[in-house]
Amino acid sequence: MSRIIAASKNKHKIKEIEAITSQFGMAVVPRDEAGVPDVEIQEDGETFEENSYKKAYGIMKLCGEITIADDSGLEVDCLDGAPGVYSARFAGEEGNDQANNDKLKDLVKDVPYEKRTGRFVSVITMVYPDGETLTARGEVEGHIVLEEKGPNGFGYDPLFVPLGYDITFGEFDPEEKNKISHRGNALQALKKQLEARAVK
Ligand code: IMP
Repeated sequence: MSRIIAASKNKHKIKEIEAITSQFGMAVVPRDEAGVPDVEIQEDGETFEENSYKKAYGIMKLCGEITIADDSGLEVDCLDGAPGVYSARFAGEEGNDQANNDKLKDLVKDVPYEKRTGRFVSVITMVYPDGETLTARGEVEGHIVLEEKGPNGFGYDPLFVPLGYDITFGEFDPEEKNKISHRGNALQALKKQLEARAVK
């Protein structure tokens, strides 16, 4: 199995990425376990694509190995696409899921369910040591609920009901989430690119 370095330190993301990349022979090694220096990569891009590339390229430069990065977030239509690229720090403090969820619930509490629509977006970038870059985007549409449900997942999962279902991602089994999620969709698109690259 070949190895790729994960630019992320988010264990949930890494687990979801590995569940899919392992199907095409790639083990994911978190950057801290691979001995990559603990340098903060500034996520100051205006798009998921920009931030995803920044993370993958920045970590590849530090370790010299194939690197994979995910930049993701939630776009809510009645909030003009917020929190978007600011999803991790929506309430101010980086990665405080509870504060982010509380802020989201408060902002949409007067909006009727049918208008509380949005989507999770994930942009996965893989950068090779020679600079070759593969980019894949995945999305999943859904509704925002006003009360957290389910113990699984992370981030906004307990508030997000994917279209066609009546339970939140927080109530999904991790494997089932991966089958329909933004990250799962982006990784399937990446898989197609990797297959096309292999037959070149
Ligand atoms: P990033 O590390 O800058 O890509 O931040 C992604 C943020 O978006 C996370 O901290 C979560 O708040 C949110 N997010 C991304 N993907 C998911 C998901 O699969 N479930 C729930 N929240 C997610």
